[in-house]
Amino acid sequence: AKSQGRNNYKFYNRKMNEKAAARLIMENALRQAIEKGEFELYYQPQYCLVNKTISGCEVLLRWFHDDKFIPPDVFIPLAEETGLIPSIGQWVLEQGCHQGAQWISKGINIPTVAINVSAFQFQHEFYRMVDNALRKTGFPANRLELEVTESALMADAVRTQRLLTAFKKSGIKISLDDFGTGYSSLAYLKKFSLDKLKIDRAFIDGLPDDKDDMAITASILDVAKHLGLETIAEGVETQEQLDFLEAYGCDNVQGYYFSKPIPASEFELLINASNDI
Ligand code: C2E
Ligand code: CA
Ligand code: CA
Ligand code: CA
Repeated sequence: AKSQGRNNYKFYNRKMNEKAAARLIMENALRQAIEKGEFELYYQPQYCLVNKTISGCEVLLRWFHDDKFIPPDVFIPLAEETGLIPSIGQWVLEQGCHQGAQWISKGINIPTVAINVSAFQFQHEFYRMVDNALRKTGFPANRLELEVTESALMADAVRTQRLLTAFKKSGIKISLDDFGTGYSSLAYLKKFSLDKLKIDRAFIDGLPDDKDDMAITASILDVAKHLGLETIAEGVETQEQLDFLEAYGCDNVQGYYFSKPIPASEFELLINASNDI
């Protein structure tokens, strides 16, 4: 038993080393991804259920490395742990704003461009980074939306308040992403002035059959309405989900039912093909 224990330990140790090595390889690859041009932005349309038009798009980062697609759920956490997220986040901001400005100059009307912001980015210097991206690209502040998570707001209430006030003053909208999945959600709604609530896909998945998901989604929409917050549901895949959200007064929707995230050129075709749903 003793020697078997040692073997298990060895095995475990080797596994650990393999994992650590793989991680290091990926970290190094990620470090070079920007200069090697391996990142691309995809865009997923968001639809307004009131006007039946495209209300904007969410920008989603894609990493193509060695002919492989590495999902953001894998590399974003790694970027956060290794301190690479500020430079990657800056690249996303500048490219996203640049694309938005190009669309405007081509006469393509995208009301808002929504960019995901990591909690690790939501620091003091972040406002300046956003401001620089807008200046550099000429993209108007009032068309930019930042999708932040509760963990971004959690760290330091005073600092967060200052940042949010600065963004509000410049016309940049703030959307609370993954809503309902974090902690003490309602406290944040009261404390901070936000523009939009984004209901997480986890709740939309169960519509319209799961009683709990129905109750949670309906409650979130109700609270948002009372607080004067705009709403958007992500991960809408079926007509039934759409019907439920429309019946309960959700303002905007996004999901595979309408379109997957697509490259900029495809997004332009989609916009030109129809502005209606
Ligand atoms: P998220 O912000 O919650 O983004 C929504 C995710 O749901 C995206 O996955 C999107 O492609 C996917 N999705 C959209 N509609 C549907 C649907 O109808 N069904 C299903 N099953 N999925 C749908 P993606 O692109 O893999 O991104 C995963 C996460 O990675 C994002 O979650 C976000 O947290 C993060 N992420 C992506 N791009 C960026 C970025 O530029 N910066 C940062 N900080 N995070 C990013
Ligand atoms: Ca998001
Ligand atoms: Ca989500
Ligand atoms: Ca997320």
